[in-house]
Amino acid sequence: MLLFTPGPTPVPEFVRVAMSEPTIHHRTPEFEAIFAKTRTLLKEVIKMPEVLMLASSGTGAMEACVTSLCAKKLLSVNSGKFGERFGKIAKAFGIPNVEIKNTWDTPASLDSVLEALKQNPDIDAFCIQACESAGGLRHSYEILAKAVKEFNPNIMVIVDAITAMGVEELDVSCVDALIGGSQKAFMLPPGLSIIGLSQKAIEKIEERNIGFYFNLKTELKNQVKNTTAWTAPTTIIIGLCAFLEKAKSIGFDTIYKQTKARSLACDKAMESIGLKIYPTVPALSMTCVCDEESDLVRKTLKTKFNVNIAGGQDHLKGKIFRINHMGMIDISEVSWVVNAIELSLAELGRHKFNGIANAVFLENYFKLL
Ligand SMILES: *Cc1c(COP(=O)(O)O)cnc(C)c1O
Repeated sequence: MLLFTPGPTPVPEFVRVAMSEPTIHHRTPEFEAIFAKTRTLLKEVIKMPEVLMLASSGTGAMEACVTSLCAKKLLSVNSGKFGERFGKIAKAFGIPNVEIKNTWDTPASLDSVLEALKQNPDIDAFCIQACESAGGLRHSYEILAKAVKEFNPNIMVIVDAITAMGVEELDVSCVDALIGGSQKAFMLPPGLSIIGLSQKAIEKIEERNIGFYFNLKTELKNQVKNTTAWTAPTTIIIGLCAFLEKAKSIGFDTIYKQTKARSLACDKAMESIGLKIYPTVPALSMTCVCDEESDLVRKTLKTKFNVNIAGGQDHLKGKIFRINHMGMIDISEVSWVVNAIELSLAELGRHKFNGIANAVFLENYFKLL
């Protein structure tokens, strides 16, 4: 089965091989050397002064960033399920929250952010997704982050880049915490989250010193010494190290370029068979398509063509489907998926198959590369 969901992504063979070695103890010089190498490689990718790795899915890192960096009032953007989650975290911890809410196809506007800041001078943290995966939407987080910092440089900017880290070069000049997760563009099993930190965030974390398992001060103290506060997810970190070494040898610029070409070419291929792209500003990490028969299309893809793509959640259940572009993905596989979608529409009597989707995909892919 071809796994083409925007998380989890498939784990490549070279990563599975690296992770199949016998377990090593986490408090050993052998593991500390791997941890140190992984930290260095991660810092090169995210271009931030410090990085933490936590044994949790991405949501754990979201929670840790909110509790560690927000003391007074949180401004969050809800253009989908993941943006909504920041508000839910604030609520769970009794942190006052102002939410900018949009439909799931619409990014947050600069005006709405500035207005919320003006009305709430006590806001001390701003949370947004780089890519809101619920509708495959790209927020212009860099522009919003810059405006927030111009308004008040002490406001902490937290960016959930779980479906953007490793997908594209990210501007972190106005970001204090950049969140990543193992099961997306780094092609690992779920269970590891990543947080890139600014110098200002480090100071705030030390000053607040909050939480227990997710106490980032405790983690910082340990991780700068290449160890972790609690038992490290050694196997996933070994896999991450292998992935980052391979990605570095290929070059992240090359990976970003290929991901962009796959993504834009796939969008065009879907449009060539009469489908509409759902978000007004699509992210590169996935192609998100409007389709009233999404469940039928996905079922046909699974049973006839061995392809697993994602549907929608909540009110978009059965109304959209999402095709992953994160990771190092063989072009021939995307070609198969695009062709299988056209065949599925033909199977459902909606389209006369003529191979146009794959032709458009390949033509555009090589043009963009
Ligand atoms: C996958 C994802 C998360 C993390 O979800 P977990 O299930 O906790 O790993 C957070 N934000 C976005 C935008 C995501 O795509």
